[in-house]
Amino acid sequence: MIHWGIIGASTIAKEWMINAINNSPDSQVTALLSQSQQRGESFQKEFQIERIYTQLDNFLSDSNLDVVYIGTTNEFHMPQTLAAASASKHVLCEKPLALTVSDAKKMIDTCSDAGIVLGTNHHLRNAVTHRTLRDLIHDGELGEPLAVRVFHAVQLPTHLQTWRVKNPESGGGVILDITVHDTDTLRFMLDDEVKSVMAVSASQGLGQNGVHDSVMGVMKFHRGTLAQFHDSFVIGHAGTGFEIHGSAGSLFATDVMTQRPIGHITLRRGDQLKHIELPPPINLYERAVDLFNKAVQGNGKPSATGNDGLRSLAVALAVKKSAEIGQEITVDYA
Ligand code: NDP
Repeated sequence: MIHWGIIGASTIAKEWMINAINNSPDSQVTALLSQSQQRGESFQKEFQIERIYTQLDNFLSDSNLDVVYIGTTNEFHMPQTLAAASASKHVLCEKPLALTVSDAKKMIDTCSDAGIVLGTNHHLRNAVTHRTLRDLIHDGELGEPLAVRVFHAVQLPTHLQTWRVKNPESGGGVILDITVHDTDTLRFMLDDEVKSVMAVSASQGLGQNGVHDSVMGVMKFHRGTLAQFHDSFVIGHAGTGFEIHGSAGSLFATDVMTQRPIGHITLRRGDQLKHIELPPPINLYERAVDLFNKAVQGNGKPSATGNDGLRSLAVALAVKKSAEIGQEITVDYA
């Protein structure tokens, strides 16, 4: 049994991650760290967590913990990962991996030197929809992938309208929240890296203190694919989507930029439409946990590695900069 400790009594831990860890036959949540004793106790009661802590040092001194899941606000990801690495705990960290590329690099290097596994919780690449799209592209069903359109504009639920929409110092804003996920999914799907980006962002009702809740832009990939994206916290009725347009066909995936294992795919060639059969849906976060557990046991890699987290962060930061200065930006991964 792999013992996981949770850092942060967060919404993502409550809604998805604790259950995903406990649903794996290989793992169990045995400890939780929250700054708030009260929130810690409420999580302990709800999920029957053996031990709760309010101090990071005490939590990391728990010799019965193998893995730490970091689901705190973004400015804590780097220091908490470094502390976990120094206590020889494996780390599954939320996205964005950090606030700067150099911090992300430091996290990757420190975990590597400590001989521990570092993963980034990019859930979408675990979806059967995205995995099927990737297979279809790799099997040549589309010919050359020329263009992609990602529609990931949603209404941010009221209970999440906190630091995300008003704290620039926590990495608030739609770009570090949603564009990072688009980037990871695009990289995974196309097996290619983003070369440059051009974007425009705005606050359309929720963003405060200079935090932008909406962005549109284009990523240019090394092999020439252009990917257009629209990410937002203020679009309530549209559903999400992912389209890939190739020289030999187009794939339309509907309702796929989501935490839930839903959505469907259609292949279009000329006037011909073909519904793509999908494997049975699986919980995206459970697959991430299963692969992470296997990596800890010495088998394979996490679904998304630390390096995947660094690369999606680098692209998101380039998108942010492009929107700020109104120019095309070459992504800096160094
Ligand atoms: P929350 O705002 O729910 O939680 C963030 C932190 O705030 C918690 O770790 C908790 O720390 C503290 N906190 C929680 N509730 C309260 C409260 N009522 N008052 C004051 N502090 C509180 O954030 P999310 O769960 O939405 O996001 C956390 C991280 O997960 C972010 O990095 C985000 O980007 C990522 N995320 C990833 C998703 C994915 O699909 N991969 C989806 C959603 C989020 P403490 O208990 O120590 O006080």
